[in-house]
Amino acid sequence: MSRVYNFSAGPAVLPEEVLQEAADEMLDYRGCGMSVMEMSHRSKVFDDIIKDAEKDLRELMNIPDNYKVLFLQGGASQQFAAVPMNLMKNKKAGYIVTGQWAKKAYQEAQMYGEAIELASSADQTFSYIPDCSDLDIPDDLDYVYICENNTIYGTKYKKLPNTKGKTLVADVSSCFLSEPVDVTKYGVIYGGVQKNIGPAGVVIVIAREDLITDDVLPGTPTMLKWKTQADKDSLYNTPPCYGIYICGKVFEWLKKMGGLEEMQRRNIEKAKILYDFLDESKLFKGTVRKEDRSLMNVPFVTGDKDMDAKFVKEATEAGFVNLKGHRTVGGMRASIYNAMPKEGVEKLVAFMKKFEKENA
Ligand SMILES: *Cc1c(COP(=O)(O)O)cnc(C)c1O
Repeated sequence: MSRVYNFSAGPAVLPEEVLQEAADEMLDYRGCGMSVMEMSHRSKVFDDIIKDAEKDLRELMNIPDNYKVLFLQGGASQQFAAVPMNLMKNKKAGYIVTGQWAKKAYQEAQMYGEAIELASSADQTFSYIPDCSDLDIPDDLDYVYICENNTIYGTKYKKLPNTKGKTLVADVSSCFLSEPVDVTKYGVIYGGVQKNIGPAGVVIVIAREDLITDDVLPGTPTMLKWKTQADKDSLYNTPPCYGIYICGKVFEWLKKMGGLEEMQRRNIEKAKILYDFLDESKLFKGTVRKEDRSLMNVPFVTGDKDMDAKFVKEATEAGFVNLKGHRTVGGMRASIYNAMPKEGVEKLVAFMKKFEKENA
């Protein structure tokens, strides 16, 4: 067996131990004679799986009791609609546009009410996070929305916006569980799990209880009403059972690794190896303002399209895959999520050094 170093932005690398355990349990989950894919979501066995997953996530993120945890389908993109449908009581929300995912959420919200752009970094190809310490926030906003880590552009908020008391809603798809988080600073935290947690098909929504109500926009589908899902503990209909099971295994792995403090330490260490090299390299350079660099997604360029393509091709041949940048920005991007070992980043940098020498 030979596994590559997978720098995909998502679906992305998962811990090998987790995959191995899932493989071992594939045909017969803990003596029940069937796979988790084949069992009823109403069974005691699955009930334990989803309850344990929630318990471990609560422990990892230190989620207070007055927040609900929902395991849903539809991806992060479906929450672009669910957020305004559930929260737009005054039909007015503020969006900070720091990339394509934030922009898509902003555009989606415009279909349900007045969405206003509070700040944007579009003027410099989303290569930085705007100053959000003193935004002009209207009194009647239902919430302030951010995309906390911008997967495509490789920026991350190092400090949350000053929302002046308004509910903060954050899409954390690509930084979920990468560092400790103070859940109480948010009204809603959500993310697709296929970046840093598990397989595609699950989106986790962590929402403060007072924001989960029957008072949703008229026409909100039953399935998109958080209250429907919260009242039934994510079992209103068939949940993405297998995906939740794998997420649960990743939560256990994270706990075993030492929790989110330890993940943060590792992630800082890993990202530093790559950023330090980019800062000294004559061939490669990072595209993001230093203060705003993501620990998870690291975009870089040579400044020459043909050279970029040559690098991606040779890297792939050497076992470093999915380094091509997003189609809208070009260049390269290394996504170095929790499950990417330090050794993977070290070897990538060694390969980049060698490539630089050969192409000087
Ligand atoms: C990948 C991604 C999305 C889209 O996720 P889907 O689950 O494919 O809808 C949304 N937001 C961010 C920040 C992402 O990285």
